[in-house]
Order: sequence, then C-alpha cells, then structure tokens
Amino acid sequence: MSDYVDHVLEHVNQKNKEEPEFCQAVAEVLDSIRPLLKRNPVYEEKSILEHLVEPDRTIMFRVSWFDDKGVHRVNRGYRVQFNGAVGPYKGGLRFHPSVNLSIISFLGFEQVFKNALTGLPMGGGKGGSNFDPKDKSDNEIMRFCQSFMLELQKHVGPHMDVPAGDIGVGGREIGYLYGMYKRIKNEHVGVLTGKGWGWGGSLIRPEATGYGCVYFAEEMLAVRKRDFSGLTCTISGSGNVAQYCCEKLLEKGAKVVTMSDSGGTIYDPAGITTEKLAWLMELKNVKRKRISEYAKKFAGAEYREGKTPWNIPCDCAFPCATQNEICGADAETLVKNGCVLVSEGANMPTTPEGVNVFLKNKVMYGPGKAANAGGVACSGLEMSQNAQMMYWTREEVDRKLRDIMKSIHSACYETSKKFDCPENYVVGANIAGFQRVADAMIALGHI
Ligand code: NDP
Repeated sequence: MSDYVDHVLEHVNQKNKEEPEFCQAVAEVLDSIRPLLKRNPVYEEKSILEHLVEPDRTIMFRVSWFDDKGVHRVNRGYRVQFNGAVGPYKGGLRFHPSVNLSIISFLGFEQVFKNALTGLPMGGGKGGSNFDPKDKSDNEIMRFCQSFMLELQKHVGPHMDVPAGDIGVGGREIGYLYGMYKRIKNEHVGVLTGKGWGWGGSLIRPEATGYGCVYFAEEMLAVRKRDFSGLTCTISGSGNVAQYCCEKLLEKGAKVVTMSDSGGTIYDPAGITTEKLAWLMELKNVKRKRISEYAKKFAGAEYREGKTPWNIPCDCAFPCATQNEICGADAETLVKNGCVLVSEGANMPTTPEGVNVFLKNKVMYGPGKAANAGGVACSGLEMSQNAQMMYWTREEVDRKLRDIMKSIHSACYETSKKFDCPENYVVGANIAGFQRVADAMIALGHI
C-alpha cells in the first residue's frame, strides 16, 4: 500500500516541479494517511489520491489598476478551486509579493482538509495576488481591489465559492472587494466572509483564528491535565492572527513575551500586557507601522532586527506569521529551551524537518490545518447568518467557535489513538480530514 502513496507522490513531484510548497503540503498529508489506506483499500481502488491532488480548476488573471501617479500597473490574480466535494469552495485571498501558483495551490490543498475537519459543509479553495499592499495609499488599495473583483466575480458566488481574508487582506480590503461585487451583481449576498459588522459580517470573525488556535492548545494541554496559568509563550507575526492569539492567551493567564513582523522580533521579558497589546493593535491596524516601534515605546523591551522568536525560551510557541518559518534547527532550539507545546496559527509554518523534531520529542504539536481552523469555521458561521438574514450575539458565536475547536481536537485525538499513535495530531488531522473528503468524493462519483 505504501507503493500507492509513493507512486502518487512521485507523479505529483514530477508534474509540479515548479511548485515546491505545493509538493511539500501534499507529501505531508499523503505520508501520514498511509495507515488508513492500508486498512481501507477502497481509496486505492477508486484512485482517490490521484483525484485529490489535482485541483477542480485553477483560474489566473490579469489585474490592471492605476497608481496615485496615474501609472497603469499590472499584477497577477489567482483563484484555485481545489475540491468542492463537501460544499462550496471556501478559503482566503492573500495579497503579498511572494504569492505564486505554488503558494496558492498549497494553501488551497491544506484548506480542503481543514474545512472538512470543521464539520461544516465547505469545500477548499484559495486565491490572491502578488500585489504588495505595503506602502500603498488607501485609494490604490481600493482601485486594486475593485479591479481584482472585476474578474473574480465571474467565478464566485454564495453557493459556489466564498473567499475571505488572509495575509494582506483584512476588513478594509474585504470591504472594497465586496463593494465592487455588489455594484456589478446588484445583490447583497454572502459571497465573501470577514465582512464588517453592520454590513453582513459576523461578530468574533476577526478574532476567530487567533482565539481558535488558543482553544485548540488548551485542549491539548487538558489531555495532559495542564492549563495556561503561569506558562510563558512566544508568538510570531503581529497581524490579525497573532494579535488575537495574544489577546486570548492573556485572558487565559499566560505570559506572552514576543511578537514579530518581517523586519524582526520584539522581546518583552516583562510580558505584553492588555494595555501594551491595545497600543500595538493601533500601531499595526490604524497607523500601519513596523513592530520595531514597540521597543522604543516600552522600557525593558528589545527589538531583534532580522530575527525570529524561536531562540527565546518559552513553554509554548504560536507561529502566526507565514509558511516555513520554523526550520529543523529552530525546532531543536525550541525543544532544548523547554518548549512543550506548539499550536500553529499560520498555515504550514513548520518545515517537515521541524515537524519531525516536535513529534520525536513528544511536543504537543497542533498542525495549522487543525489549530487555525477557527477562522474558516467562523466564516462558515458568517455564511449561516447571511443565509438566515440574522446576526448572532458575540457570546453565541464564541460558544459555537469554542465547541467546533473542541470537536476538531477530539476528532484528531481520537483518530490518532485509533491509528496507534496517540497525541500525534498530524496523523489525526490528516486522516480525519481526508476520510470525510474522500468518502464524499466516492459518494458523488468523484467527478
Ligand atoms: P496579516 O497580514 O494580518 O499578518 C501577517 C503577519 O505575518 C504580519 O505581522 C507580517 O509581517 C508577518 N509576515 C508575513 N510574511 C512574513 C515573512 N515572510 N516573514 C516574517 N513575517 C511575515 O495576516 P494573518 O494574520 O491573517 O495571517 C497570518 C497567517 O495565518 C498566514 O499563514 C495565514 O495563511 C494564516 N491564517 C490566517 C487566517 C485568517 O483568518 N486571517 C485563517 C487561517 C490561517 P509584515 O507586516 O512585515 O509583512
């Protein structure tokens, strides 16, 4: 049976030579579902893996826009509708200069299993552009978003494909994208999630990925009869996911000592307090400035230019910035310094070498597709509210989010036990997610 996985992996690597991140994500999933394939030969008989590694469709398009100087600029837009077996395609849009087909395909592939784990009827997709929102004026962002939607609207719809935000796409961008969709279609429907409160958004959606990542970590700790009180945590990133991960950790009694951006890391040995976090959120979300300012503002904090947080001693680490930000050596350092838990807010932030180090050392390791599923789960709740023309209260959405994260943890944990590797959440998440999608594909004649 392992021959089947090896054969498909070889084919994927051959066919997608220019897409290393996509090949990495496929290898991670396929490798860990070997025990399931051995027990259930039907998946090989029906060639499910060959179907699963091929997106339903990939859309690439030109995005043409004017900058403030009147110069006509061009970027490339993407939407990969990866797998729609369990529901409409769902997954964020990323605006970042590093975006290419490999990045969007890996994110779309991961999204398929993540969405399945939530238990909600959502297929997987992802999109974005190599557009860099940094240093662009508000008007430039608006014109870019409008042009992006001019093409994207042909391929999305509330029952077809429902994008959301990701790196570089927050509430402001979703507003401009949705405004353009409404102008073209003349309808107010749930075609995007992450909308603002008051025009179709859900309470808790901005907080959901960060909160969910902490809820998942809390469940992992509970298995070992522990909680957050007194634990020291490091966080990477200082965007949407990192900010709300920090907020929830503080609420749970943990001490957070780092945050970062692509320029470097701030280390605050006294701990980031609620007041300091509020200041940081204003700095990042309103003033849109760099995290280095934090060290100038708060005595005792230092800025480590060009450095990541992973050599700072901690009990728990929360990578919330980007893919492949923890390599094998970083993972060794974390373990050596006493880190016992890693919960991934970002998508695929740990390299395969890093994952092996965590698993070998029995670190409680929550892979992104399980630990950061709170964001898309809450997007699913936003879709439900839109369909019902209803708004739920903050408490109601948070309770549902908490329950979904609990049930994702329990699905991963129980599956890991069933396949004789208790607390291996990589195996648990991949097998539980795969099974739901694969069974739906078979039921639908995997067209
Ligand atoms: P934001 O754009 O709000 O923040 C991204 C943060 O990561 C910024 O601090 C950014 O720094 C930093 N960052 C980005 N690229 C790099 C890099 N190459 N090296 C170091 N730091 C970097 O994005 P989000 O918080 O929304 O997303 C963060 C991660 O979480 C991504 O992996 C995303 O896919 C994942 N995720 C997000 C969800 C959501 O609901 N938003 C849902 C599930 C997963 P700088 O400002 O300098 O670029």
